[in-house]
Order: sequence, then C-alpha cells, then structure tokens
Amino acid sequence: MAKKQFKAESKRMLDLMINSIYTHKEIFLREIISNASDAVDKLAYLALTDDNVGLNQSDFKITLTTDQIARTLTISDNGIGMTKDELDSNLGTIARSGSLKFKEDMAAEQNLDVKDVDIIGQFGVGFYSAFMVADKVTVITKAYGSDTAYQWESTGTDGYAITEAEKDSVGTDVILHIKEDTDDEKYSEFLEQYRISQLIKKYSDYIHYPITMLMNKSRQKEKPEDAGDDYTPEWEDYSEWETLNSMKPIWQRAKDEVTQEEYDAFYQDKFGDYEKPLTTQRVSAEGTVSYEALLFIPGRTPYDFYTREYEKGLQLYSSGVLIMDKCADLLPEHFRFVKGIVDTPDVSLNISREMLQHTRQLKVISKNLEKKIKSTLMDMQKEDREKYEQFWKSFGLQIKCGICSDYGTHKEMLQDLLMFHSSNGDKPTTLAEYVERMPEDQQYIYFATGETVGKIASLPQAERIRDKSYEILYLTEDVDEFAMQVLVSYQEKTIKSINDEDALPETEEEKQAAEEKTEAAKDVLAFVKETLGDRIKEARISKILKSHPVCMTADGPMSLEMEKYMKRNGADLQGMAAEWVLELNADAPVFSALTDAVSNDPEKAKKYVELLYNQALLIADLPLEDASAYTDLVCSLMV
Ligand code: ADP
Repeated sequence: MAKKQFKAESKRMLDLMINSIYTHKEIFLREIISNASDAVDKLAYLALTDDNVGLNQSDFKITLTTDQIARTLTISDNGIGMTKDELDSNLGTIARSGSLKFKEDMAAEQNLDVKDVDIIGQFGVGFYSAFMVADKVTVITKAYGSDTAYQWESTGTDGYAITEAEKDSVGTDVILHIKEDTDDEKYSEFLEQYRISQLIKKYSDYIHYPITMLMNKSRQKEKPEDAGDDYTPEWEDYSEWETLNSMKPIWQRAKDEVTQEEYDAFYQDKFGDYEKPLTTQRVSAEGTVSYEALLFIPGRTPYDFYTREYEKGLQLYSSGVLIMDKCADLLPEHFRFVKGIVDTPDVSLNISREMLQHTRQLKVISKNLEKKIKSTLMDMQKEDREKYEQFWKSFGLQIKCGICSDYGTHKEMLQDLLMFHSSNGDKPTTLAEYVERMPEDQQYIYFATGETVGKIASLPQAERIRDKSYEILYLTEDVDEFAMQVLVSYQEKTIKSINDEDALPETEEEKQAAEEKTEAAKDVLAFVKETLGDRIKEARISKILKSHPVCMTADGPMSLEMEKYMKRNGADLQGMAAEWVLELNADAPVFSALTDAVSNDPEKAKKYVELLYNQALLIADLPLEDASAYTDLVCSLMV
C-alpha cells in the first residue's frame, strides 16, 4: 500500500512529537479523549432531531481497552466518525495553520529549543501528541451515513496509509501501539489500567459522556459446598466495565467544591490555552431565563485575536448537551476575548442553529453576562491593579475599539475600564483617577497624541499646560483619538486636545493681546503663507506655544494624527484631509529675526520660513518632503 506524505508543517509537528523530551507526555490521552468527545457531541446533536441516528442520548460513550501483550491502548467512541476524505484531510494536515509557527516563536521568545519547550503539552497539540507515546497509530473509523469503514495508519514522519477496513458501528477507534520502555522513559505505564484511570480523573473528569474501561480484576472464587476444613481460597480473573469519570460538568458542581486548579485545567483543555486564565467567573441565574455560566478571561492575547480568523463566542449547552461551539450572540463585541460556556435549559433544541441566534433568551443572557464581566473587571481594577494592567495590555485595544463602535453606544458601559498613560507618572491611569487629581481651577481633561510617550511629553504645545500643573493624557495608539472624539466628555468634564486654541481659557486681556500680536504680524503671516502656498491652509500667531518658536496643528475635525493613521491604512483622503496650520510664536526671538528678514532680506526670509516649516514637520513626526534640501538649507544658514 502506497504511503501518502504529510504536509510539510504537519511533518515538522510530528517530528516534534516523536522526538519530544517533554515530561508530561501523559496529556496525549486528554487530547485523544477530547477529540472523541467532540465527535460524540456532533452525533449526539444530530440524534436530537434525526431519528435515523438510532441512538439515545444515554447511549453515547467513550471506551478504553488495553492489551498488555500487543502493547496497545485503544480509545473508541460512537461519535460521528470520519469519511475517507476527512481522514485524509484531518489527520494528514494540521488543522490550525499558523499554530506551529506560533509555537516556534514562543520557543524563541523563551530561548528554548522548540522540541523541549513546555508549550508542547500545554497547547492543545491535538491528535499528533499520540506520537509522544506510540510508535504506530491506527485509526479505524466509520462516518455517520456511510457504509464503508476506513483505516488510517502511520508509524511517523514517513507518511500514512489509508485502506478500507471492517467496522460495524459508526464511530472511531484510535489504537495506540505504545513504545517500548527505554532507560529514561517507562511508556508501559500507559498500558496500566490504574494509571489510565488516574489520568482520566485528572484531565477528563468533566467530559459529559461516560468514559468506560474494561477493567481486569480478580476475585476469590466462591467456596464449594463440599470443601473441607483445609480449603485454600482460589482466585479467578474476570473483567468488568467501569466508568472512570464523574461526568458532572464542572459548571454544575457546587461552587465551593471546585478548586481553582480544576478550573484552570478545564480552561486550558477546553480552550487550548497553555496559560492559566486571568480570571474565572461563575454566574448562575434563575428567573425568566435560567442558566449557569462559567467565564474566563485569558492570561494573554490569543495569537490570532486581532485577526479575522478569531471567532468570538461562548459554548452553548442545553442541559448538558452541546448545542453550539461558538455562540457569538452570547458576547458583545467589546468583550469578545472572554471564553467560556453557558448552559441553559431554556433554549429549544429543535430549532436550527441559525434560528437559535435570534432567540430572546440569548439576548437576555448576553446582556446579563456583559454586566457581570464589566463588574469583574472593575473589581480587578480596584483590588488587583497589577492584574488589571496585564488585562489591559492584552485586551485594552478591544475596549477602546468598543468605545468607538456603533456610534458610541457602549461608551457608558466601557469608559471606566479605559486606561491611558499620562504626565502623572509611569503607570497608566483611569479617567476617574485623572478627574480625582484635577486641581479646582482645571476645567478640561487634556490629551495629546503621538507615537510614543516620550515624543508626546516633549511636544512644544504641552509646555504651557504642564506649567499650569495640569495633567495630560498621552495617547499613543491609533484608536485613542477616535475614542476621545466619541467620548466628548467624562463626568461632565470636556475632553480637549492640547492643540485646541481654547484649551486654556483666556482672560479678556489675553484675548486682546493675542489679537494685537496677530494684527502686528499681518505682513509676516501673509509672507509665510505665500512662501508655503498650498502646503498649509494658514499661518497664524500661536496661542498654544510657550517658549518654542513653531508647531503644526490642524483645523477642523481631522487631526494630524488621524490623517497619519488614514494614510497609513491607505484611505482615500479626498475632501477629508487635515487642514494644516503653521503656528508661530510671536514671543520667540526667532520670530523677530523672521520679521526683520521679511522687511529687509526677503530671500533670507524665505529660507527662514522653509526652516520653520520643516521644524514643525519634524516635531509633529510628519515626513519631510525633501530631507536633503532641508539639511542643505540648515548648512547654508550656518556659513
Ligand atoms: P483539533 O481537535 O484541534 O481540530 P486534532 O489534531 O486533535 O486537532 O484533530 C484533527 C481533526 O481530526 C479533528 O478536528 C477532527 O475533525 C478529526 N478527529 C480526530 N479524532 C476524531 C474522532 N475520534 N472522531 C472524529 N473525528 C476526529
């Protein structure tokens, strides 16, 4: 039988498994059981509406058998099975593309060789983990609705073979040919029934189908009637099916009965995370809609979280039967990082999955969970700031996007979760804490935008606000300024950019003085505008500069930072481009030099204008139109 080759990535993954020196090889069983349980879920779901399945909910199970002599451990399920094509594509290729790359990156990050990283076991590595303990794996499977059974067999990286096979019932047998013991590894333990039942308790106890094993036992034979006084008891061997797991879903057990370790293990297994969750939350509700929910916030951003591949949603069960793997309607978009399950007797099992998405019950649950998640986060923010900062690092961007989406509908829900860096110190601050610190005479909440905290802190516009001892929020992410526009205000304090002319309220005298300065500089401003032409909308005497001679701002709703963002993302700015304003400080000595040159040496004045314009670009982190022309200009003014 000709062998088929594994796809390149799968081959590398297999190689990793075969040569793994990972110490928790035992997790292979969890992975195989988990696949079996998924397959059973699928057929059990069909059985709810399709009598042809011919099985009752109580018929579904997973069975284990061991054979010491043949050195095999067999895991069988009466789930949905696989067709020939499915066998080929599911076991011939790694389903989750990119996951290996991620593992390799992780290994590099930890400065480890990819094959001996902890991550192997903790990742939800799937079917191939069988090759950590088996030198040959045989899968015999018959798909629901198919007449023919097939066998898939592989001894490792040299490929696999698929042949027709004999199997009466629908489902899958995974037969692991356990490796011989070596000096370092005692693989035989995976043939010991006691050890296997331990592993099932440890990793798969909550699986809601019975996991049964044919246990080899021995018992004393009954004493024969005619036995004399010198009778010595005789023993006999027998075998008996025993259920190894309690089957009680973790979310249906009493809260004080479940340890955090159990929650962690459940989370890691179910959601394929190698890290423990940041938070674990149980929610129960009774009333118009009754449900049990178990929610987790991951400890770090899933690698695909900010990609289109990531699917949000909670697992939906109806009285212990899995109805939907990722029910998106149970979670608002801004909390899409939450993982978990909802079990409710109140959703009807007979309606199709599409219909289900529109039921009123799901909306009620979703609204309720949204509030619960928010309060968990608020508690964390107050009681465990370090943890909250970790959360914020992972998912803060999602919260900010939530502020901006749906025309700001969710801002009330989310604004207290926000954190920003600020001039107050190294640690990010919430808006509430900012307002708390505001001196009495401060009217507005100030923000400034830029690429890094350092760059923002040195913006010339920040000087006069800081001189007043007013705190400034430092916005470094693209979405930040959009979020501020949506927020408008917080606790009735208007949110203002430090670039706003009226960021600091002016007295009548100040206003008049500013008008006089502008009037006096009329000719200079006209000269500047004429020199720069369409490159700017206007040149003006600045009200926001203190000691520095120049800066660039923008009139209208589009700020410079927003414009940069749009350009980076290839947006067509026609008609929406920022209106650039070159602001000049009339009190700076350089301005007198410019004024002088405008009247006495217009050629030199033009050079000064170019110089100031380019400086403003540099400060605003805008690209110079012609860097070498600029440096030539600086040099020419030096000699
Ligand atoms: P994952 O379970 O994360 O998708 P695996 O490598 O563990 O990745 O399994 C690959 C695929 O093989 C599964 O998604 C499933 O489609 C199929 N599969 C594995 N075991 C079984 C089984 N016992 N019954 C039916 N299908 C299975």
